[in-house]
Amino acid sequence: MNTRSPLINYINGTWTPPSGNSETIGVVNPATGVVISSVALSGRADVETAAKAARTAFRGWRETPVTKRIQYLFKLKDLLENHLEELAATITNESGKTIHEARGELRRAIENVEVACGAPVMLQGYNNEDVATGIDEIMIRQPIGVAAIIAPFNFPAMIPFWFVPYAIASGNTCIVKPSERVPNTMNLVFRLIEQLDLPKGVLNLVNGSVDTVDAILEHPDINSISFVGSTRVARIIYEKASRYGKRVQASGGAKNPIILMPDADPEMTTNIVSDSAFGCAGQRCLAASLAITVGEARNIFRETLSEKASSLRVGYGLNEEMEMGPVISGESKSRIESLIENGISEGAKVLVDGRNPKGDAYREGYFIKPTLLDGLHPGHSLVQTEIFGPCLSLMHADTIEDAIAMVNSGSYGNMACLFTKDGAVARKFKYEAEAGNIGINIGVAAPMAFFPFGGWNESFFGDLHGQGRDAFEFFTRKKVVVERWPDLWSRKF
Ligand code: NAD
Repeated sequence: MNTRSPLINYINGTWTPPSGNSETIGVVNPATGVVISSVALSGRADVETAAKAARTAFRGWRETPVTKRIQYLFKLKDLLENHLEELAATITNESGKTIHEARGELRRAIENVEVACGAPVMLQGYNNEDVATGIDEIMIRQPIGVAAIIAPFNFPAMIPFWFVPYAIASGNTCIVKPSERVPNTMNLVFRLIEQLDLPKGVLNLVNGSVDTVDAILEHPDINSISFVGSTRVARIIYEKASRYGKRVQASGGAKNPIILMPDADPEMTTNIVSDSAFGCAGQRCLAASLAITVGEARNIFRETLSEKASSLRVGYGLNEEMEMGPVISGESKSRIESLIENGISEGAKVLVDGRNPKGDAYREGYFIKPTLLDGLHPGHSLVQTEIFGPCLSLMHADTIEDAIAMVNSGSYGNMACLFTKDGAVARKFKYEAEAGNIGINIGVAAPMAFFPFGGWNESFFGDLHGQGRDAFEFFTRKKVVVERWPDLWSRKF
């Protein structure tokens, strides 16, 4: 990768450096600690240019028939498929996840392009003839205008794709602001988008950080905000964008509990829970963070999960044999280690300690190996705190009722899972659990692109989620036309 010239914006069909003396920050490979590229941060003037380009392009794009709009998406799918390996390596190099995880992420991104190609059906409205004699009523969906997408670091490709394909298929134009920590992936995606020959200004890339986001939130030409990131920032985005009259969907953080029943299949459950907790180094918003064992499950899973956590192969994700990579930054590593330390000082017992791994492979990067804590109680601060790292905490409950109460005591609501062979217990759980994504014998209950990615409570601010039907709803406004043609009755046909 070129480490000399900083990554720049793609606005109005042209690669454009930010104006003025913009700040440039380095992008570090978390597995090696080496700076692999840098990115120029955009200011208010750059957001202004992008918003103007998107606004100008909107009219022509909206008038482009949906059947034609989706042809660009078919081409985009092809390009993504053909460059999957290059994209996957880019994701691994800047986010740290393994190459297998990066390929999986891209599959999810592509799936959203495929689903958005259903726009001709999904954008249909509905109508009634003769709501009163001679009067018809029609609901039409129209695009909302310019859509902005603000993404986090942990899925540099997939998360923008929860929104972008639906937004443009629905006739909107877009501005994408990737995380400044992982800008290479969207840079490469936009190199592919450039090959689509989309009308200028339909898709724009603006790199940046807090100031860039502020300018986006305040810009009068931007109509909607799709945000994914931490709860702290999601709340700021939701409040501010609403104040500026925008339509907002803001996904936040998570603390995902998993209930393990004594009848759960030990081997399958252990493998799945371990993948959920430690896959992507615990930096998935659907990572299991708390495992609540019920009754005898305590002894079974304490042992099997300890064995599994100790045996995972951790290292540089481009090595196909690795099962887990580093966390995103030195700052993240210190934060996770201090949360683990706090948990221990509050009485948690360490079953597997992944801090400070030894060996040459771990000297420069931001590695923490899988860590397993036991004996947490509802009062422990770790039970409520998002760790966003490879640490799973075990809690114990005597009954399924107590376990569900523990699940529902958290402030987040992104995901909750249950492992059992008992259908009645499963039914009770899915009925009562307070979360938007539920897994039954599933560890990462990530909805397919044709279902909404739905967090609840502190994990989501807004009404309509990303993906599928919700995305088409979010990116369109409904217009209802009531019509009468009075001369109809006097004319002879
Ligand atoms: P983050 O909130 O730090 O950053 C997300 C985006 O917001 C970035 O583009 C960043 O530039 C911008 N930003 C940061 N601070 C800002 C501020 N003060 N004002 C305006 N913009 C700001 O999140 P992150 O660390 O990149 O990602 C990890 C978080 O995202 C975790 O909490 C994780 O749970 C969450 N996440 C949630 C989902 C979900 O679907 N709910 C999915 C993925 C990640």
